[in-house]
Amino acid sequence: MDFFSQLQDGDILFDNLPDDVAATVEIRNAKLQELSYSGDLGLEFVVSDLRRWLPGKVIKVAFLDGDSDLHLDIATTLQKVTDACGVVFDFGETAAGDFRKWTESDAEHAADIRVSFDKKGYFSLVGIDSVDTSIGPPTSRVGGRPNQASLNLGGFAVQRPATWRGTTLHEFLHALGFHHSHQNMRGPCQVSFRWEDDPGYQPTQDNRGAFIADSNGRRPGIYTYLAGFPNFWNRAKVDHNLKTEEDPGLVIGPFDRASVMLYRFPSLFYKTEPSPCAPNGDGQALSEGDVRGLRLLYPDEQNERESIVATQDEILSALEDAAPTRSEGGEESAGGAVGRSIVESAAAAMRVSRSG
Ligand SMILES: [Zn+2]
Repeated sequence: MDFFSQLQDGDILFDNLPDDVAATVEIRNAKLQELSYSGDLGLEFVVSDLRRWLPGKVIKVAFLDGDSDLHLDIATTLQKVTDACGVVFDFGETAAGDFRKWTESDAEHAADIRVSFDKKGYFSLVGIDSVDTSIGPPTSRVGGRPNQASLNLGGFAVQRPATWRGTTLHEFLHALGFHHSHQNMRGPCQVSFRWEDDPGYQPTQDNRGAFIADSNGRRPGIYTYLAGFPNFWNRAKVDHNLKTEEDPGLVIGPFDRASVMLYRFPSLFYKTEPSPCAPNGDGQALSEGDVRGLRLLYPDEQNERESIVATQDEILSALEDAAPTRSEGGEESAGGAVGRSIVESAAAAMRVSRSG
């Protein structure tokens, strides 16, 4: 039985990037933070600014696999995003109803967001990381290069889950630069989560390898639950994906219980029932908070766009200045060269994010 057909109602399959791809994102973030705090880019510089597509840019989308009906349904679902703010998607739809395709032998980006359905799970690179060629190992099928997927909706081409609309919105909001609501540092989730097993819990798994309550009704905590089917996460990965993000550069609004960016977790994730961290909607449509966030990042108004463009201009020229001149005093270390190429890739991705 394949992975997808083993999933049952109530399983939570987290969206997350493959580990080797996530590692390249962390290396890049560390490098850019270092530039930012050393003053090269100025104090106003924030990583999330770097990940925003330039307001007004037409964002091209292409598909690796799946049929036109699926592509049309995704494009239709995303109409809610373009209706809400200044984002414009271009799916390359033809009069015959076919949509733009990309391939794993492309040498140039066929599209900014390259969608696939053939990998396990759901994930997306955040914002313009989608076209940053330093993201993802060169041999991976996921990353910012032209021949790599930037967004995956695993299994949708075979069978869509009942929640496919919410998942589609969630992943495309990542692709526009959004992060998870449960990691909102103004939100209640970290203290509301049930991290540890009930005292005396005897590890018990079903025939798929999912951790379940033991014969005394004691329940696994989050760490144990996520170590089993279908996520198989170690503790570090749980912390990375569930604990609060302290990045001072994140654009963060108030915690929004109706956001498509807030997961509906199984009840064993929460200390209390009801939990202040639990969604209060069905997560299948954009919330008012999501719409406000979209308008903040991608305003419709010309003067607001112009001020964002001016900021992006400054960041890009600072990156371009930082890239060629950074050497670690005389002899350049291998680390210095790697850092420089990361900064060059970030600048190149910003140039792509402004074109078209
Ligand atoms: Zn997500």
